Amino acid sequence: MSNLIELINAELPQFQCGRCETPGCRPYAEEIINGSPHNRCVPGGQETADKISKILNANKLLLDHDYGPEIKPQVAYIVEEDCIGCTKCIDACPVDAINGAANLMHNVINDLCTGCELCIDPCPVDCIELIEVSEEQSLKIRKDSDHFFQLKNELLQRKNKKTKLNKSISENLDIANTINQKLSNRNLDKEKLIKKLQAEMLDSQRVEKHMNASDIEELKKQL
Ligand code: SF4
Ligand code: SF4
Ligand code: SF4
Repeated sequence: MSNLIELINAELPQFQCGRCETPGCRPYAEEIINGSPHNRCVPGGQETADKISKILNANKLLLDHDYGPEIKPQVAYIVEEDCIGCTKCIDACPVDAINGAANLMHNVINDLCTGCELCIDPCPVDCIELIEVSEEQSLKIRKDSDHFFQLKNELLQRKNKKTKLNKSISENLDIANTINQKLSNRNLDKEKLIKKLQAEMLDSQRVEKHMNASDIEELKKQL
């Protein structure tokens, strides 16, 4: 089963655009295995749908253009002087191709941007443009997008886990108990770790030139 998912995913164009009504190419490959029609990837075109028919040993289906339109080979470009640093585009990007922090100017990492267009609509000041690139360049970027798509999803899952901590006091207590149980089951020499940390902190004082080397060595001996 997972092999079939890999085979199908390898034929999908890896824009991670969500037009097939799944969050990205790999989830669509999984949906196909679970019975969804395999003709919904308009950016991949009829050729992709036909290749998937072959993998599934199923009848050919005509591309369903309701899931369109196509996507050109392109990358996003942020007009930096207009950006208000709202971070909405970062949340929308399926492959984490946007750099920036709240209230600061953002920019696109060209080598990661699949040109999926998902950041365009959320931008409140319309400062994201799309720039056409060669088919070759677009293919090169999309070749690795599955990796970055999965990384982004892992980050989101961790973020959701963190949000869960704020849901209710009783839930928080349960979670805290589980965490404490996990910690107490660990076989760590905490005293040794604390000393190691203190030594590292003293060494960093040397790097930052806040203390001289002999004082640092003297303090380390006392740990
Ligand atoms: S390219 Fe877009 S429409 Fe095609 S499978 Fe990937 S996410 Fe779906
Ligand atoms: S920067 Fe915009 S166009 Fe590029 S991958 Fe991210 S969301 Fe898609
Ligand atoms: S959504 Fe637009 S304004 Fe907001 S950070 Fe991104 S580029 Fe800047």
